[in-house]
Amino acid sequence: MVVPMRCTACGNDETRVVDSRSAEAGSAIRRRRACTRCKNRFTTFERFETVTLTVVKRTGDKTPFDRAKIVRGLTLAAKGRPLESAVLQLIADSVEDQARIEGPEVSSEWVGIAVLDQLRALDEVAALRFASVYKGFVDVADFERELTLIKREHPAFGASEPQSDSLTPH
Ligand SMILES: [Zn+2]
Repeated sequence: MVVPMRCTACGNDETRVVDSRSAEAGSAIRRRRACTRCKNRFTTFERFETVTLTVVKRTGDKTPFDRAKIVRGLTLAAKGRPLESAVLQLIADSVEDQARIEGPEVSSEWVGIAVLDQLRALDEVAALRFASVYKGFVDVADFERELTLIKREHPAFGASEPQSDSLTPH
């Protein structure tokens, strides 16, 4: 159960988050809040241990966020690629941080895309593999969109698509 964040001026428990950033190397989150009643702004400092992070699957089923599952997927995708295990751990950490800022609930699609975004910047081969490994995990359409982006940014990587600097409008 999440404790309501009360306004420090008037005690109103309806506040709006205006800014979130991770703190203490990702073990806590600092939120800038605004009271919906008196417009007072204040900062809260929330420890992650008090917040349960949940992943909502396409089926609507909810499951606890599993960092180890992300690392397993990354490890499979990075096999034989010049990506050290420590880098994969960092990606998983970073996705967890983002999820906590986004959360307390994130969709499985969101997790897959967040991982892919980071992996793509490091190694497009691993990113493509990750996309295929996780096809069953996230929405296929999302991944197809991501794959199109990868091919667009790395034309040599795609099949027979002509190289073009201009983006094709959808
Ligand atoms: Zn207030």
